[in-house]
Amino acid sequence: MNKIYSISSIISLSLISSLTYAQTKFKPEDTEFYTPKIRTVTTAPNQAPSDALVLFDGSNLDQWVSSKNAQEKAPWTVKNGVLTSSPKTGDIQTKENFEDFQLHIEWKSPEVIKGEGQGRGNSGIFLQGHYEIQVLDNNQNPTYVNGQAGSVYKQQPPLVTAVKPAGEWHTYDILYTAPRFNQDGILIKKGIVTLLHNGVVVQYNTQIEGTTEYIGLPKTLVHGPGPIVLQDHGDLVNFRNIWIRRL
Ligand code: MG
Repeated sequence: MNKIYSISSIISLSLISSLTYAQTKFKPEDTEFYTPKIRTVTTAPNQAPSDALVLFDGSNLDQWVSSKNAQEKAPWTVKNGVLTSSPKTGDIQTKENFEDFQLHIEWKSPEVIKGEGQGRGNSGIFLQGHYEIQVLDNNQNPTYVNGQAGSVYKQQPPLVTAVKPAGEWHTYDILYTAPRFNQDGILIKKGIVTLLHNGVVVQYNTQIEGTTEYIGLPKTLVHGPGPIVLQDHGDLVNFRNIWIRRL
């Protein structure tokens, strides 16, 4: 044992000394580079970064269509700068499709608190149309933890519950890497999501196991770029300040 230890020590020492020798041959500027030129992005409080695609700025739903029929306008309502789901009209989705992205979205539970569990202030944000990040009024409203706000629905609960009093706006900042499939349609890399809920990390490099099913196990679905879908779950959930940056 001692012998093995001493041999490995000698190897380690000789490696360190050769590395140290190699490092001394460098000058600081040898490892500094000046190209490519880095693009500038400007930001301002409560505004989208200058290079973002603004999906909703409070004025209209020009970037959205009905999920039932992509030829039809999104049937939800816009009033006083706020987008509100219209129960029973169906989901809405972006006109454009996305692969890897950074998404910012703000949401607020209905003004009138009614229902319980999954029936209170339920909506959701489907990444590429298939993977739901849950939106739910969590205030004193117990439900299954992998179905509460900030969960990857029916898969991964949030790391913590980022609460706010009812009636206040929440922020979601989502970093998403789409799943990858090879030419034969075989999944070679699962999708990954990081989610900040009100600035707190609640999903951290979470692997998405497949479609977020209400009943049954996640399914592997082969797909390309897809839209952001907002769920109509029958509740009057509000949204504002939605923007996305392709990565
Ligand atoms: Mg939902």
